Amino acid sequence: MSETIDSTLDERFADAMMGTFAPPLAFLDHGEGAYVWDVDGKRYLDFLGGIAVNSLGHAHPVFVEAVSEQAAKLAHVSNYFASRPQLALAETLKRISGAGDEGRVIFGNSGAEAMEAAFKLARLNCTGRRTRILTLKGSFHGRTMGSLSLTGQPALQKAFAPLVPGVEHIDPSLEALEAAVDETVAAVIFEPIQGEAGVVDLPEGFVARARELTTTHAALLIIDEIQTGVGRTGTWFAFEQFGVTPDAIAVAKGLAGGFPIGALVTFGEASALLQRGHHGSTFGGNPLATTVGGAVLGEIESAGLIGNAGRRGEQIRALVAGLGSPHISAVRGRGLLIGIGLTEPRAKELSSAALELGLIINAPNDHSIRIAPPLIVGDTEVDEFGRLFAAALASLDSSNDSAGAHS
Ligand SMILES: *Cc1c(COP(=O)(O)O)cnc(C)c1O
Repeated sequence: MSETIDSTLDERFADAMMGTFAPPLAFLDHGEGAYVWDVDGKRYLDFLGGIAVNSLGHAHPVFVEAVSEQAAKLAHVSNYFASRPQLALAETLKRISGAGDEGRVIFGNSGAEAMEAAFKLARLNCTGRRTRILTLKGSFHGRTMGSLSLTGQPALQKAFAPLVPGVEHIDPSLEALEAAVDETVAAVIFEPIQGEAGVVDLPEGFVARARELTTTHAALLIIDEIQTGVGRTGTWFAFEQFGVTPDAIAVAKGLAGGFPIGALVTFGEASALLQRGHHGSTFGGNPLATTVGGAVLGEIESAGLIGNAGRRGEQIRALVAGLGSPHISAVRGRGLLIGIGLTEPRAKELSSAALELGLIINAPNDHSIRIAPPLIVGDTEVDEFGRLFAAALASLDSSNDSAGAHS
């Protein structure tokens, strides 16, 4: 019976939805905390959290109340008008990022839009011979033509050439950084941990050196905190852990816990670059999205979820390393943004096995597992993750054996 429903939905999906995504792993119906249920009533432990979006998990009372109350009050006004929640969220973002008195915030509706604003900021710093914008190979900054031009992945860009000119992708290495940054560079843009690449840490000293070189050459340091931001890595923003102050950060994903929003926060003098008429968005910063963002940040702060992210992250990293599995070559990332490197290209197989067992994890590439659970996870969820992940790993061995038996 349930199979009939499933296959019908899959067929309808294929017939109605643009073919841009792989067939869905499941049709989800509802969620609570760190759990989701599919249309057949199967329960999953959600250790992907909508890809680092569901900061408070699913159906958190603070989220539900913020959406419902503000929707019943004032959802949208044009940018000819302002609202208290918009102003309050901008002020909160300035405070928690340390953007300072000169700091400014512009809202959009997604990560890509935050990166579009970042791209414009970088372009505005192009003067005279200063024309080059540097990003990293393997990076991910979004799918719009502008943000895709920043993204350092030829496979994603190939079909859409010519891209927006002026962007160079350099190796994420200190040598490449030293060689590339001079007085012709307008901006250096990177993720403090490369999320889509499989949660890959930058080389030791990279972020600090990028700050020194950009300061020396009057280039902007723009940090894409879309996946790493709002508490996930154990501090409000990951850049704090590298002892630098950027010129701007892009924020999105977890900011409103599942309600669409994005923001660019500028620091210091960089705040004077984007001027009246330079940028805007119909929905960006509307009272509904900013109310939810404010409520989510408020809950992260008052419930101590940043500290929890740091501690649970350590706990999960230790647990994964402690499995001593021959399939695992590395455990990466910070806080609750965790990459698990595999010795063989079997990440998709492993994530499918986990899904079968009722655990949602993600394989951004063949050699990496990414987990990004809600910041609310506690002992129960971490223990359950440990059991299910170990079982999924064990299933790799049995499928190895059966493959061997058949060959
Ligand atoms: C997800 C992501 C983006 C793009 O965000 P969208 O909301 O999908 O447009 C950009 N940069 C990073 C680091 C991301 O993780």
